[in-house]
Amino acid sequence: MPRKQIKYAFIDRDGTLIYEPTPEDTKPGDIPYQIDSIEKLKILPGVISGLKKLLSAGYKLVMVSNQDGLGTNLFPTQTFISPQNKLLEMLKENRITFEKILICPHLPKDNCDCRKPKTGLLDEFKKMKDINWIDSIVIGNSQADKKFAKNLGLIFIKIKTNTTFKINI
Ligand SMILES: [Zn+2]
Repeated sequence: MPRKQIKYAFIDRDGTLIYEPTPEDTKPGDIPYQIDSIEKLKILPGVISGLKKLLSAGYKLVMVSNQDGLGTNLFPTQTFISPQNKLLEMLKENRITFEKILICPHLPKDNCDCRKPKTGLLDEFKKMKDINWIDSIVIGNSQADKKFAKNLGLIFIKIKTNTTFKINI
C-alpha cells in the first residue's frame, strides 16, 4: 500500500503569527523587527483559530523564519529563545504543535543558502518521499515569503503584515 502523503503548511513567524516591531515603534537602542524580549511578543488575532483550522484540514505545521544575525552580539540566542518558547507554550496550551521550526540566522551579506526566499531550510523536506507537494502551502506576509513559495512551486497565502491571520482553505 502506498504511504499516506503528508501536506505541510510552511508558515512565517514575524508579521504573520506575531507582531513584528516596525521602525516606527522601535525604542532607541532596539533593533527594528527583532522580537528579543517576552514583552515584545504579541500573537496576532486569528492565529489560534487559523492554525487549528489548518490542523483540522490535515496540514502539518512548520515554522520557517529569517532571524537576521541570530547568535551574534546584535541578537544573542537567549533573547530569541525566551519569546520563542513563550509563543510555543501558548500555542501548545491550545493544542497547536509545530512539527519543525526552521530558522535562518544569517544576514543578507552572508549570502547563505537558507535565507528565504532561498529554499535551503527545506532541504530535508525535499528528500522526503511521503510529502504531498501539490497541496502543501506557504503562508507569510513578505515578498521573500512569496518568492520562497514560488521557488518551491507551492501555493502562497498572503497575510497582511501585523493584521489578522486569515486563511481560506
Ligand atoms: Zn541562512
